[in-house]
Amino acid sequence: MCLFAFLVAHSVPLISSRAKFQSALHAWYRVHARALPWREAPALYKTVVSEFMLQQTQVVTVLPYFARWLIELPNFTALAAASEAKVMKLWEGLGYYSRARNLHKLAQLYLARPTPPRTPVEWQELPGIGPYTAAAITSISFDEPAAVVDGNVVRILARLTAEDRLFRDGTAAVKHFTALADALILGAHPGTHNQAMMELGATVCLRQNPRCDICPVAKFCAAREAGTPEKFPRLQPKKIEQRAVTRLWCEQRGQLLLQRGHAKAKQLAGLYELPEATALGIVPTKKSLLLKKRRAITRFQITESIYRVKPTPAQLKRIAAEPALEWVAQDKLATLTLSGPHRRWIAELSEKHPIK
Ligand code: SF4
Repeated sequence: MCLFAFLVAHSVPLISSRAKFQSALHAWYRVHARALPWREAPALYKTVVSEFMLQQTQVVTVLPYFARWLIELPNFTALAAASEAKVMKLWEGLGYYSRARNLHKLAQLYLARPTPPRTPVEWQELPGIGPYTAAAITSISFDEPAAVVDGNVVRILARLTAEDRLFRDGTAAVKHFTALADALILGAHPGTHNQAMMELGATVCLRQNPRCDICPVAKFCAAREAGTPEKFPRLQPKKIEQRAVTRLWCEQRGQLLLQRGHAKAKQLAGLYELPEATALGIVPTKKSLLLKKRRAITRFQITESIYRVKPTPAQLKRIAAEPALEWVAQDKLATLTLSGPHRRWIAELSEKHPIK
């Protein structure tokens, strides 16, 4: 459907009230915006770092990481010059580690450019920057009229227009609502408008129990009028895949066996984890189970089972020959970068079963 047809079919009442919609939304944002560290004395570097950290991650989780990062790496120059090990250590526990590597590379490429990037297209030439992040950075820092469209914005727009179509997934919904988001930002201060939309999605137009009674744009909302806001957006349910991973708790002479992620691994390159049993061809017995944990990553529901094993002499030889496996002394564990869940599991297990 062309942009005109889309607007006629779904959004004309909202577009024709654009100025009033913006005025209500922005007035609310000026009073109710949360005081967040990247909004105080805003600067391009702070915006870039916060946008990377906030991808797939909640504000409350990001806050301590952002504070530490700004102390250790206060600007593009410090970040570009930092070692990868330092960058990864500062990111430890935040997850989706390719973000940290991309941010590191971005600082180096940003400084190497003859002129700094300004437009969304130029920013998307840098690693880790997609349309959403480019729009967020350039609207906040350079007043570019580029609308952000993510799950939060899709939810708001789907409810405002009571869009009844069933979307295959979030990407299809983002594509569908981009034209409306672009139309709604016209004539507004772009940074304020985008941040107000993000704030509305994060604090008022919630996935469950939206707070329509205090919503600044309630009078423009078709789903609220129909009394069914939670029905929107309509997305096909995700297919959840079950996975089981068997891991080993293997110790000798006060050291724990860990496995380092392969340099080419997208997320876990260089990060340490408890080794997978398949790496050593070990099949542990049921009675040696120490810990079982479930976690969800994207569409995977993963059950991780950790077993205590005592390697045979043949297995010890195999461990010694495998460069990704490393015996690590207990007092060195704190200096390594472990993935977040593994840091927690090792702490939990070593309390009950001190490493001998
Ligand atoms: S009125 Fe309710 S459903 Fe509509 S935008 Fe506001 S919070 Fe969301």
